[in-house]
Amino acid sequence: MNYVLGYQCTLCQEEYQADLDLYTCPGCGSKGILDIVYDYKRIKKKVTARSLAANRNYSMWRYAPFMTVRDENLDRTLRVGWTPLYTANRLAGQLGLQTLYIKDDGLNPTGSLKDRASAIAVVKALEKGMEIIGCSSTGNAASSLAGNAARMGVKTVIFVPERAPAGKVAQLLIYGARVISVSGNYYQTFELSEQAIERFGWYNRNCAINPHLVEGKKTVALEIAEQLNWDVPDWVAVSVGDGCTIGGVYKGFYDLLQLGLIERIPRILGVQAEGCCPFYTAWAESQPLEPAEENTLADSIAVGVPRNPVKALNAVKLSNGAWITVTDQEILAAMKTLGSAEGVFGEPAGVTGLAGLKKALVKGMIEGRETAATIATGNGLKDIQNALKAADGPIRVQPDFRELEKILA
Ligand SMILES: *Cc1c(COP(=O)(O)O)cnc(C)c1O
Ligand SMILES: [Zn+2]
Repeated sequence: MNYVLGYQCTLCQEEYQADLDLYTCPGCGSKGILDIVYDYKRIKKKVTARSLAANRNYSMWRYAPFMTVRDENLDRTLRVGWTPLYTANRLAGQLGLQTLYIKDDGLNPTGSLKDRASAIAVVKALEKGMEIIGCSSTGNAASSLAGNAARMGVKTVIFVPERAPAGKVAQLLIYGARVISVSGNYYQTFELSEQAIERFGWYNRNCAINPHLVEGKKTVALEIAEQLNWDVPDWVAVSVGDGCTIGGVYKGFYDLLQLGLIERIPRILGVQAEGCCPFYTAWAESQPLEPAEENTLADSIAVGVPRNPVKALNAVKLSNGAWITVTDQEILAAMKTLGSAEGVFGEPAGVTGLAGLKKALVKGMIEGRETAATIATGNGLKDIQNALKAADGPIRVQPDFRELEKILA
């Protein structure tokens, strides 16, 4: 915790000392999500563009000075982060965009960006000597926690809503988690997990509640900037459920601005599914956040009551960004587009950012001469059922070459 000054509440702005070991603000209760405050002057002396260029640790831990973890366990974890950033010229051409980058976070060890938070959760639990981690999730937070914890010999108890896709539940079971499938929606699942975590004293991996985890998610932004040699794009499009990912993306760029490594923070495009868009609605109507329906096939972002509202809303506001929604049809189309144009297979929530970018271009919110990046947040193999909806079926033939010739002619 060398460079950590303390915590600051996102609601009341109260500051707390680093050694207090808090989840949320003691004054505001569970809604008082905390943000970590760093001593940028001291980080600046230690971390420079040059020191990073010489750093051979190609994982998220190359940015350990920007996080709250101690070093002792970092060389034993699964290898999370430093995923490829592709220049997607073919896709950019199709969209009418000058330059497009795709950050393929589906290539993390358990197949989603959530690994960046789960790796921290496991390391923090070990630092505190805690043997069980609890979490509720629409799927990826859970499967990623289960995998990262298994690697470190830590036990997990995981609450999933019954609608979680089979691929993600299979991951949990194979990684040896204790899985509680709740007959209810994500909100009810989350509430039940919070009660259990509190009662049994497990380490809490619920990302909004635990301020250390967004510090892991922000490494995706640190990587995008470093992979572009600190010349950041005009826009970064992010799919949004609870709001931790988009909050992390903002925080990463904010850190780099404080350290003088980048000159401006990219404008952040928050993308939600039309069937579940509490952030978009609050922004478009300048109203407080209201609970929304969870009516989308993009299960990872079907979050009617987002748990990290302030960080998410700030990410868009402070970056001069925007919110947009896309339909499930547009999400499915983006799956096919990304896969066929660039060879990147994303799950529905994994391509929602791209679908939003496409729509923002059509609406003129983003101009074709601007540069943009989008994060493919999760791997398409996790949700085969929806992938098959997005694609046309195969060509069926008898085992007969003449027939094949006719069809292919
Ligand atoms: C969790 C998740 C998101 C959204 O992250 P939030 O922090 O919930 O906003 C987006 N895509 C995928 C694949 C996810 O698993
Ligand atoms: Zn507070």
